[in-house]
Parts: sequence; C-alpha cells; structure tokens
Amino acid sequence: MKTWPWKLVGKMKLVDKLVMQVIVSLQSLLCIQYRAANSIQLSSIVGERKLADDVQLSEKSIDGAQAAEEAKKEEGQHKAAPRLRFPGSLLFKRWGDNLAEDQQLAAQALFDQYGYNVYLSDRLPLDRSLKDTRPSRCLEKKYSHDLPTISVVLIFVNEATSIILRAITSIINRTPSHLLKEIVLVDDYSSDEELKGPLEEKIKSYSVKHPGLLKLVRHQRREGLTQARISGWKASSADVVAILDAHIEVNHQWAEPILSRIKEDRTVIISPMFDNIHFDDFELVQYDVAADGFDWALWCLYEPPPEDWYALKDETAPIQSPSIMGIFAANREFLGSIGVLDGGMHIYGGENVELGIRAWQCGGRIEVLPCSRVAHLERAHKPYLLDVTPAVKRNALRVAEVWMDEYKYMVYFAWNLPLEKPGIDFGDVSSRKELRKKLNCKNFEWYIKNVYPTLLPQLTIVAYGMMKNTLSKDICVDQGPVTENTPIMYGCHGYNSQFVFYHSTGEIFVGNLRSQRNEVDRCMVDTSQGELPFLQKCDEAIQRGLNMHWDFKQGAALINRKTKRCLEIVKDDGASVYRLILQSCTGQKWIIQHTVKGWGSKVIAG
Ligand code: UDP
Ligand code: MN
Repeated sequence: MKTWPWKLVGKMKLVDKLVMQVIVSLQSLLCIQYRAANSIQLSSIVGERKLADDVQLSEKSIDGAQAAEEAKKEEGQHKAAPRLRFPGSLLFKRWGDNLAEDQQLAAQALFDQYGYNVYLSDRLPLDRSLKDTRPSRCLEKKYSHDLPTISVVLIFVNEATSIILRAITSIINRTPSHLLKEIVLVDDYSSDEELKGPLEEKIKSYSVKHPGLLKLVRHQRREGLTQARISGWKASSADVVAILDAHIEVNHQWAEPILSRIKEDRTVIISPMFDNIHFDDFELVQYDVAADGFDWALWCLYEPPPEDWYALKDETAPIQSPSIMGIFAANREFLGSIGVLDGGMHIYGGENVELGIRAWQCGGRIEVLPCSRVAHLERAHKPYLLDVTPAVKRNALRVAEVWMDEYKYMVYFAWNLPLEKPGIDFGDVSSRKELRKKLNCKNFEWYIKNVYPTLLPQLTIVAYGMMKNTLSKDICVDQGPVTENTPIMYGCHGYNSQFVFYHSTGEIFVGNLRSQRNEVDRCMVDTSQGELPFLQKCDEAIQRGLNMHWDFKQGAALINRKTKRCLEIVKDDGASVYRLILQSCTGQKWIIQHTVKGWGSKVIAG
C-alpha cells in the first residue's frame, strides 16, 4: 500500500489571513503556495509584454526541463550575475536566477498579471513532451478503436495565449483524431486584448490543418466558471464532453480510459487524475492516486482511495470518488438529464461538490481514473479575484440548502454562520430543489453512508462561533499559539483559531472543526492540576479519562462536570490583559456567538 498524503491538496483555500495563532490544517501544497502568494506584495511594475513571436507548433518535441535549461543558458549569456530585482518574489525563488534585469522586469510583470510564469511559457514549445505519469500497468491496456466521440471544453478568463494554445495542442496531439469531434473554447469575458483578435487569428491558423475542430464561444459579460462550463456543454455535440480548465496539458492516452469507461456505463462521471505543473519552472509533478472529497466548508481535498480499491490490487482500476476537483468528463446527454451544473453558482467554487453529490444522489456515480492524467498548471494567485473565499462560502450555502438536508448545519458551522439569516444572499435555489424532486434523488444520509463514510457529521453541536466572557466583549477564547495546547484570551477576529463548539454532550472543541473521520478535534480539559485549561486531542482525552465535559448554558458559567471548577478570566496585578484560567467559580458568564435551533437562546447582554 502506498503511504498516504492525507488531505494532500484542496485546490484553493485562502483561509487564514491572520498571521498569528491561526491553526492551519494541512490542506495542500497548492494551498500553502496560495497562502504564501497572498502574503507578498504584488509588484506594481508593469512591464511591456513581450509575447514571443515564435509561439507556433514546433516540429521538434523537447521537454519542459530541457527547454527551461536552454532558456536559462540563453539568458545566462546576457550577463554573469545580474542583480536580483525581485528577491522576495515567488517567481524567482527557484527559477530565473540568470535573467538579465530587463528580463526579470518582463517576467515579473507577466507573473503579476497571470499568477504563473508566462515569460517561460512563451518560450516553451507548444507541443512539449510530458513525462508519462500513468501507473505502468496502464500502458498494457488495450482500448477499442470504436469508442464514443469527445468534445473538449476549455474555459478561460484572462489566461495567457501560449497557455491556451499549449492546452489545445496537447489535446490535438494526444487524442485519437477519429474520436476528437471538437474543442470548444469558452471565453468568460476576458479583457486581455491578446484573447480577442489575436486569438481568433491563431484559431484560424489551426483551422487550416484541422477544419471545424476549434469553436469559440464568448460570454458578453463575466458569468463565472460554472456558467462558462455550462456554455461549453451547450456548444458541444459529441457523445462525451470533457470540461477542463484552459491551463492544462492532457497526458498520454488520456481520453481512451474515459471513453471506454463511459461506453461501459453512461452514468459514470469521470474525474481525470490531476498531476501538477509548477507555476514557476513548468516542471510536471506526479500526484499519488486519490479520490476527490471535501470538508464541511466544501473546499475540495484529496482523499485516500477506499480500502476495496486497494483490495483489487489493480492500480489501473477506477476509484470511486465522493466528488470532483473541478474538471470532469461525462456522457453529454446523461449530464444534461441530471442538470449539468448549478447555474446559480457565482464566480468560483461549490459547483464541483454540487455535481459530486447530485451525481451520486440522483442515479450516477463519480470515478477517478488513474490511467487518465491531466496536468494542471498551478497558480500563485488568481488573475480574476484576490480572494475566492466569499464566492466559495456563498456557493457552499446553495449546495447545503439543496442537497444536504439536516446535515446542512455542518456547512454553517464550518463557515461560522448563523443558521437563520446568515447574511449571505445565495440566490434562488427553487429550481434546483425541483430538479432534486423530479429526479427522485436519494438523501444526504444515504450519500454519507454509502458514498462518503469518512465524512464526519457532528450533530450534537448546540453552540458555536466566538466565545466571549461578559466581563470584556473585545476578547475571545482562542486556541493560542499553534505549537502549544494552552487556550488563551485574544482580541476577537473570528477566524478558525477562535472557533468554539459546545456539544449537548458537554464537550467543547476549540479550533478548526474536523470533517474527516481520520482527524481529531481538540477538546478543552481541566487536568485538575494547576490553573491552566488545556486543549487535548479528544480521543486521547477520552482514553486518559481527562475531565472534558462541561456544564454550560448561554449567558451562564462554564463549569467542569468533574472538578466543578469554572473557566474564568483574570487580570494579574498591574497587568492590562486578561488571562484564561480555571478556578473556583466566581459567577463569571460566557456567551457563544451562535446557537442551534434556539438552544439556550436566553442571551444576557454583555
Ligand atoms: N474561470 C472562468 N471564469 C471565472 C473564473 C475562472 O472562466 O470567473 C476559468 C479559469 O480561467 C480556469 C477555470 O475557470 O480555466 C478554473 O479556474 P481556476 O483555474 O482559477 O481554478 P482552480 O483550478 O484553481 O480551482
Ligand atoms: Mn485551474
């Protein structure tokens, strides 16, 4: 069995803007990069864009590393040791140390604009070769000549031309021509001039060799990625439609496994396996096989394949998956019959989880195919939005309201939103609810039980959010420094480190709420020694018989059931700040921000 990178990657989680005291659940390499990118200052330098004129299909295939090396050599001839113009830039952490200053300026300006290394992309061949990342047994597979046809949709907003052209080139070169019916480009109202006339010229030049293969659909206003995917689906005409990002390169024989699986069963929706292209040097990094899941905030994440997949001892076998990451392939008509995607989603996020749940609950299934690999170019930042979090939050509520029944509370907990009047307009969901009824879909309980048993609902939570003492309304219970297990009082900011969950069973969780069974929340305990409360992994607290149950009512004292001590705050002599301690109860009162279904709704002002 492979060693497992638990929850290795959620694609984009821009969580914790706070520098201090924010627990960061290890979401992903990409997320880490994304976070880092947001902590640097974007350069304001706008260099003149030097799009290489030689962006054409090159006859000779050379791989990215080799090309990068050659580009480096060429750059090296300029000057021996040029001054680093952007020592803090992510772009130059691992790349470009020999670039002359004017080249650095140009590369940085492009990087600021797109979030990946367009300077390098413009110099790499469009038909560069890619390392074959499939498990070796995939290479022995024989696929029928007679497979369904495929339309490939590429959606984009302000992506670099050379990136889009490389995606197109990889699709043309790595898809059997008798099966590739068309490539549909959907422009979600890009402002980049390059993507207007100049892109159309490029398309014309492709059309000489491949008449009718490329189609271009343009939105007349920005509609967001879900609508872009829907537009692509509408414009498609093949048996199968694959809907991809525009910054991808499909790898060897990517289409055949998809088409033969969908030929066997038209209700299967395929999530191809992702590999990662570094945003700086364009190296391809192979990812381990994984299923696609999500947490209660509905951020996507990678899950280990289920046990019965390992039992098959066949690394080529489809992996049953609760959801998709974003890109997918499906029988075009079947996808239409179950409602394509939720057109009410805005900008980014949620649509992938919605499709995952809907497919399973309404008679389809999702599978990841280890033999079908799509290399996805990571980004250091998104060109269309600095922070996708509000969009993901809003879209998550649509998914919760339509598909998750009473489990929808988990989504509200994860985003720390009140159950009534969350203050977020998530739009009209009535047509999606009707769709659910019309398709006679199963409920979310069935989905958890049968499809996603490692997703963990916590239905005993009765109060959640920031926890304040009535003595001081500006400070909140906080999990404290990430490396320690002593909760503290800290200025209220409302990020994950100040999430408190009180259960009707008496436990208090502090910090990020877990969503997976293999993770453990931290429980507030009274060790009965010393005056400090501790945060202990709840399973260990149970094993060690620690005092982890508390009596609490909204606006009342928080009393440990065993020791009878109270959680209270004190100011030491001469000190200006409160400390969190356990002591004989003096009558202090606490308020937790939100309650469930009116639990303890008696609130004492404070
Ligand atoms: N996209 C779009 N409209 C939008 C936002 C994104 O068409 O309003 C496109 C974007 O160009 C990309 C795809 O949607 O091809 C997915 O977006 P992105 O790659 O930023 O998401 P990620 O892969 O990071 O989840
Ligand atoms: Mn993407």
